[in-house]
Amino acid sequence: MSDRIQAIRGMNDILPEDAHWWTFFENTVAEWLAAYGYRTIRMPILEQTALFKRSIGEVTDIVEKEMYTFEDKLNGEQLTLRPEGTASCVRAVLQHNLLYPGPLRLAYSGPMFRHERPQKGRYRQFHQIGVEALGFDGPDIDAEQIMMAARLWKALGISGLRLEINSLGDAASRAIHRGKLIRHFEAHSEILDEDAKRRLYSNLLRILDTKNPALQEMVQSAPRLIDELDEDSLRHFDGLKSILEEVGIADAINPRLVRGLDYYNRTVFEWVTDRLGAQGTVCAGGRYDGLIAQIGGKPAPACGFAIGIERILSLIQEDNPGVSAQSCDLYLVHQGERASRFAVIASEYLRDNGYSVVLHCGGGSFKSQMKKADASGARFAAIIGEDEAGSSEIGLKSLRTEMEQVRMGLADAVVWLRTQII
Ligand code: ATP
Ligand code: MG
Repeated sequence: MSDRIQAIRGMNDILPEDAHWWTFFENTVAEWLAAYGYRTIRMPILEQTALFKRSIGEVTDIVEKEMYTFEDKLNGEQLTLRPEGTASCVRAVLQHNLLYPGPLRLAYSGPMFRHERPQKGRYRQFHQIGVEALGFDGPDIDAEQIMMAARLWKALGISGLRLEINSLGDAASRAIHRGKLIRHFEAHSEILDEDAKRRLYSNLLRILDTKNPALQEMVQSAPRLIDELDEDSLRHFDGLKSILEEVGIADAINPRLVRGLDYYNRTVFEWVTDRLGAQGTVCAGGRYDGLIAQIGGKPAPACGFAIGIERILSLIQEDNPGVSAQSCDLYLVHQGERASRFAVIASEYLRDNGYSVVLHCGGGSFKSQMKKADASGARFAAIIGEDEAGSSEIGLKSLRTEMEQVRMGLADAVVWLRTQII
């Protein structure tokens, strides 16, 4: 027993009993993306390490301590399991020159990898759906993406998510703010914890994101980046706010909202809930106007966001406790050689006519087969014995309601089932 191989810590199997939630989510997302004209792109899960160092930033938490990076022993390349999708997506766009004809809207989804301490809502392999709009510079696209997210929550039946927005301005306004912030933190140097001291000269803005209660007062009284915004960023932010107001999306400006990745500027936003404890951010994104140039492309503005699928699914599951997996229409039990041959033909015929059928395999008595039929969750048992096979008929019995068993030919069964299965 002890030498049985287990999955890697923080990397979960998605079992059949949960898979239907994923299917529901994925189907809803596919329709939602189509409604906004976003086209999908699929990138590899492994990339050159340099891509993430250059885009996310050397001194961010992700690059410093969360990446699965290794050397490919076969050729000596430095590789990293992608910790997020934006960098790979932009890399693919540049590599294939997709921006050449003009701006574009893209979406991707799949597993991401970060070496974090696993807990509810925080895993080492987790899944995101991400959208990126490349080549757009106005606040209209920022607003579209926020509206899009709001529509998805509605389609998924999730309520109670709160939108927080902020603007990080441009590089010059961040530099001015940075100076003031350093002076503020230095004036309180006696209370800074180790993490904050380390970040003071590297990833300064992240100090504002600290969860340490002892630092909250100092963080609350810190100079605000939003007070230093350059004129263009301010106009952009006002533009975004007025569109959101027009379409009736309530937002809260959170002047301490920063992102853990270096490439963001101007608009940043998060959708948060109080229902998931410290893992309350279900969707995060913003503008990254400098990234394309940073990884070697012709400068172009862009904006995007990513949704943490596991976190969203736990909200959906909480809100819909009674919903269970979709099961088959029919479970076909059969006994005897002739019956078994007819069962194959009958099950294919029923599938041809749109029904889902599990054909019993492995023999056994009618009684034991009926138990399996019941446990399968199917709506009906279809029953074929030598007798039915002899007259090319099937027996049908509801497994979910009281009902006399009926018997008829296959063509009649197709019609009759239609009156029973809505
Ligand atoms: P957090 O502050 O929770 O660590 P983050 O700022 O690192 O989040 P992003 O890089 O912005 O997260 O990723 C976007 C979304 O992906 C998050 O809002 C969250 O829903 C989800 N996410 C991020 N890391 C994980 C993880 N380790 N496990 C599960 N979901 C995650
Ligand atoms: Mg994180």
